[in-house]
Amino acid sequence: MQALVLSDVGHFDLVTLDDPVPGPGEVRIAVTESGICGSELGGFLGTDGLRKPGLVFGHEFVGVVDAYGPDVPMEQHLPLGASVTANPLRSCGVCPICVAGHENVCPQRKLLGGHIHGSNAGLIVVPAKAVHRVDHLPDPSSSVFAEPTACALRAVGRTRISAGGSALVIGAGPIGLLLLEVLRFRGVEQLFFTERVEGRVAAAEASGATRLSDDPEALVRQIKELTRGLGADAVFDAVGSADTRTSATLAARPGGDVCFVGLHSADGMLPLRDLIRREVACTTSFAYRPDEFGQAVELLGRGELVFRGEVVRAGLADGQHWYEQLIKGHPAGKVVLQPSNPGT
Ligand SMILES: [Zn+2]
Ligand SMILES: [Zn+2]
Repeated sequence: MQALVLSDVGHFDLVTLDDPVPGPGEVRIAVTESGICGSELGGFLGTDGLRKPGLVFGHEFVGVVDAYGPDVPMEQHLPLGASVTANPLRSCGVCPICVAGHENVCPQRKLLGGHIHGSNAGLIVVPAKAVHRVDHLPDPSSSVFAEPTACALRAVGRTRISAGGSALVIGAGPIGLLLLEVLRFRGVEQLFFTERVEGRVAAAEASGATRLSDDPEALVRQIKELTRGLGADAVFDAVGSADTRTSATLAARPGGDVCFVGLHSADGMLPLRDLIRREVACTTSFAYRPDEFGQAVELLGRGELVFRGEVVRAGLADGQHWYEQLIKGHPAGKVVLQPSNPGT
């Protein structure tokens, strides 16, 4: 099979690898589309501490069932050629963290395209139990966005935001756009966002959100003016820089919620005395549980949630170009690589 392999920091090569053989309980999927995730850009640059040269990236994908390994239970057997996606995050399922329902942070978890070869390739092997059939859904191709949508569903669920409330999303990249969609779907009435890249603004506005300044002082002033002097019920930081983390805390109302999602900077300082005196609840959100991934597939496939960003489709051979473009700040909401498309 053809695969896009990180041969060195900042460099992919399109190479031919042996076709992977599905083991016991596993399914092989012929990948039709594989989305580039913002979390992979640091890996491409060698700064994420996870992805190493020799790896095939990619964890957001759709494809068709191609082959089965032995011992796949009958109820997990789909017809060959069925359209599917799969939860790319493998947790052990038996440790105390998994048993407590925190599979997303299982200490033994492995991410496709992070710890093990991912979907920027013609074929990928996954456990049969991770597979979700999508061809019964009105829009099966939407499940290429299931993984970031699952992240957004979890993040919103980590806060107390409810219908009729107000929310601010800092950063309208793919995760920010999907946070706005989930908040709209949940009936949040006043939706606000900030975004520096002009080319991403229209997609966020399409979810019914109003753009505010990304200057920290102006942002806090504006959000208070729009919320009777209080601040937003919930603020989501989908960037994760020192500035945006501080802005997120200052834009929340007394007794409100802040959810840190963006991973840009490793460390940061927060105005903790102010947070305590206003009793702002700070939480974090990482990835998703298996049930949240399943919900994302269904809600996207039925059109209840829509990925409204610009989608660029390209061949695997153009992967190097598109990772570079995204690092330079290209406004595309999502770049989707197509392993069967020869590219340029
Ligand atoms: Zn992702
Ligand atoms: Zn576990």
